[in-house]
Amino acid sequence: MTASLRQAAVDLDAYRANLDLVREWMDPVELMAIMKADAYGHGLEPIALAAVDAGVRWIGVLTVLAALRLRAIGVDEAVRVFTWQHAPDLDFRDAIDSAVDLGVSNVPELERVVDAVDHRPARVHLGFDSGLHRDGATPEHWPDLVAAALEAQRAGRIEVVAAYTHLAESSDDEDSASVAAFDAAVEQAEDAGLDIPLQHVAASLAGLERKEFRKDMVRMGANLFGIPGADGVSAADLGLEAVMTLRAAVAKTKRVPVGTGVSYDYTYRTATETTLVLVPVGYADGVPRLAQGRLEVAINGKRYPIAGRVAMDQFLVDVGDDDVRVGDTVTLFGTGEHAEMTVLEWGAALDTIGEEIVCRIGARVPRVYEGHDAEGHVAEYLRGER
Ligand SMILES: *Cc1c(COP(=O)(O)O)cnc(C)c1O
Repeated sequence: MTASLRQAAVDLDAYRANLDLVREWMDPVELMAIMKADAYGHGLEPIALAAVDAGVRWIGVLTVLAALRLRAIGVDEAVRVFTWQHAPDLDFRDAIDSAVDLGVSNVPELERVVDAVDHRPARVHLGFDSGLHRDGATPEHWPDLVAAALEAQRAGRIEVVAAYTHLAESSDDEDSASVAAFDAAVEQAEDAGLDIPLQHVAASLAGLERKEFRKDMVRMGANLFGIPGADGVSAADLGLEAVMTLRAAVAKTKRVPVGTGVSYDYTYRTATETTLVLVPVGYADGVPRLAQGRLEVAINGKRYPIAGRVAMDQFLVDVGDDDVRVGDTVTLFGTGEHAEMTVLEWGAALDTIGEEIVCRIGARVPRVYEGHDAEGHVAEYLRGER
């Protein structure tokens, strides 16, 4: 394996293949590739550069800070970068200077954007709250937001680029009601004299399952990382590929007698004389402390259960009488091709979703990028040339 004790391998070719597949599904609708939370834990810059190399024209990151990181490595203004969560004291000047697209949810936020405008208008997407109750103006406050946007646009301070909302994905009927409310809000804005050039509503799940919600653009994250959202649907069912593989190297092995208590609290005791293997990945790296009985890892093509509490930096595996040696590769999750669990299986085993699993892989785990054209922008970035 590699010199590192632990690593998250990120397969940029798989990301690219997922992009191509998703664009084919969505054609002719535009795709915004969502890369919040450091590209769902995969690393923002390499993922963004791979996407830009593949011709992606819209990227979504949560914050202006993340958008500016992309501008700083040469993601130029031909690529639109959308942001939608803004600190209450954020100074929007750099965002506007760098043509970062701003989701705006209420009149005070719009006023702060307008106040920051200098020589070029701010690019604004008006957020509508269609029932999720996170961002967006509620139906009650929407007319005021529209009126303020209209005034600011007439004054040349902003350019209204889009209206958008985000769905709860609770049930088909509730999502339909949310989209109907959004449609009514767009109509209301247009009746008030505001042109809405673009509408975007759907993320991975609705974009895939509800064609009528695709509007002008879908905002997709999870699908691109090979993590489909529908119950019981695997990545392979859809033709998506897992992008992240979490690996470690066996750090130590130890032969112990029957009845040996393992790790903190001795929640596991050996049933026979056996070999324990130390895996140098812990809850600081994103493996939950209570994973015993839920997760198995693959070593040399075979699955073994986690034995005892996961500690901050390591856990133990009971491999019986199998010949496992220091340095052997332990695969925690990945494509499933070498007997390892997938990220979806982790999600199911831990009562959560795959996105949470990849997002909480800790900063201590080096991301190692595999695949992708060696002459591409990612390679330049990784060599420190961008
Ligand atoms: C996270 C997010 C998305 C992408 O969601 P996926 O289900 O990962 O595709 C899209 N839009 C908004 C506003 C989001 O917060």
